Amino acid sequence: GPLALLGPAPGAPSCPHGPALLFVKTSQGKEEGRRFYACSACRDRKDCNFFQWEDEKVSDTRLAARKEYNRNHQPSFTHRQNVDRYKNFVLLPLSKRRFCQECQQLILPAEWEEHLDHQYLCDITTTQLKSPSQLLYPLENKKTNAQYLFADRSCQFLLNLLVDLGFRRVLSVGTPRLHEMIQSRASQEEEFSVRSLLLDIDFRYSQFYTEDEFCHYNMFNHHFFGGEAARETCRKFLYEENGERVIMVTDPPFGGLVEALASSFKKLMAMWKETEKEGHDNKEMPMFWIFPYFFESRILDFFPSFSMMDYQVDYDNHALYKHGKTGRRQSPVRIFTNLPPNMIVLPEEEGYRFCTVCQRYVSSGNQHCEICNSCTSKDGRRWKHCVLCKKCVKPSWFHCSNCNCCTLQKHSCEKTDVGCFICGEAGHKRSACSSLSRS
Ligand code: SAH
Ligand code: ZN
Ligand code: ZN
Ligand code: ZN
Ligand code: ZN
Repeated sequence: GPLALLGPAPGAPSCPHGPALLFVKTSQGKEEGRRFYACSACRDRKDCNFFQWEDEKVSDTRLAARKEYNRNHQPSFTHRQNVDRYKNFVLLPLSKRRFCQECQQLILPAEWEEHLDHQYLCDITTTQLKSPSQLLYPLENKKTNAQYLFADRSCQFLLNLLVDLGFRRVLSVGTPRLHEMIQSRASQEEEFSVRSLLLDIDFRYSQFYTEDEFCHYNMFNHHFFGGEAARETCRKFLYEENGERVIMVTDPPFGGLVEALASSFKKLMAMWKETEKEGHDNKEMPMFWIFPYFFESRILDFFPSFSMMDYQVDYDNHALYKHGKTGRRQSPVRIFTNLPPNMIVLPEEEGYRFCTVCQRYVSSGNQHCEICNSCTSKDGRRWKHCVLCKKCVKPSWFHCSNCNCCTLQKHSCEKTDVGCFICGEAGHKRSACSSLSRS
C-alpha cells in the first residue's frame, strides 16, 4: 500500500543524509503495520538503504558500525578544504587547470597522476569556474537528485522578476543555476546588488563557493551537514539588514514527499521570522516554490496563502519540459507563491496576458470561464466547462454518466482507479510516469 510520512521525529536515527524520516504503510487511509525509519533524501534503496523499525532495539555494536558507516559516506574533502583548493586552483596558469569528469572534481597538479586514466578537461577558464552547473554533469537520477536545470530563458525571467519585485537577497534552495546566474551578474555588473545563498544536497558545488555562498543542505529533513555554523550562515543571510528584502526560491525534485518539503520550508520561514524582533508583523517570508501544477492542491494544503502562476518553467536537460526547436512542448512546471498574484508580471511576448477579473497574468490559451468566474486552465490548453460537474475540465475529457464525473474517453467505469500520483492520469503508476522521465 501507499506510504504515509509521519514526519521528522525527535530522536530519529541518522543515515549519511541526516535524520531519517518516520513512515508507515497505509491501507484505505489507515495505518497498517509497523512504523519504520527510512532515508529522507533517497527514494531509491540503491542510493541509500537505511532502514530501521521504530520499535527496533539496535545493539551498541550496530550503532557503532552505523556511525562509522555514516562517517565514511561523507565527502572526501570538507567544504573548508574545497575552498582552500579553489584558492590554489585559481592561482594556477590555464595550462595547469584540470577538471576530472569522472571524479567531478577540480584537480591540482600534485594529484594529476591519480586521474591520468580518467576523462578530464584541461584549460579550465574563469568563465567555466563561474558556471559550475555547465561544468558538472546534472545528477538526473530521478528518485534522488532529479537535477533538472532551468533553461536560460526561464532562469533570466525568474531573476528579472525578483529584481523588479525589489528583492536583494535570494535563498536558493535546490536552484544552483539561479544561484550561479546571480553570482555571475554580481561579479560583472557594478550596479547589480543581489546576493544569493545556495542550499543544496549536491556537495560538488562546495568546490566553487565559499561557506557564505553555499550550504550543504537536505531539504527533506532540514538538515545542515555543516552543523551549527552553516545554520548560522543561513540565519544571518535571512536577516534583512539595511532593508535588503529576502525571497526564497526552491525547485525540489518532484518525486513526492510534499509534506517533508513543506515541513522544512516552514522551518526556513520560521528562521526568517525569528531574525526580526517584531516578528515581521505576521508576514510570511516571500517564496517561490517551483513545482508541477498537479501538485497544486497538495501545496495549498500546507500553504493556504500560496497561489499558482501560469508561467511555464522550462528546463535544459529534461526530455519533456524543454523548449524544443520544433515549437514548444508544454511544461507542467509552475511557480507557487505567497506574493499577491497581480505582482507577478508574465512576459507578453510569450503570450501571457493579464486577466482583469482574476487580477493575474494567465496563459494565452487560458480562457476566463464566466460560470466559474475564473481562468480555469491548469495546463495552458483551453479547458471546457461541464455543467454537470459544475467546473471546467481538460479538453480531452467527457462526462461519463456512469461515473458521474468527467474523465478520459477511454476508461473502465467500475474501477475507482485513482491514477498516477505524479500527473493524475489513469492507466499508469508513478514509477512509470513519463512526466518524470529523463532525456
Ligand atoms: N532548476 C534548478 C535545479 C532543480 S533540480 C536550477 O536550474 O537551478 C533539483 C535540485 O535539488 C538539484 O540541484 C538537486 O541537487 C537538489 N536536491 C535534490 N535532492 C535534494 C535534497 N534532499 N536536499 C537539497 N537539495 C536537493
Ligand atoms: Zn540516506
Ligand atoms: Zn578522476
Ligand atoms: Zn468553468
Ligand atoms: Zn463532467
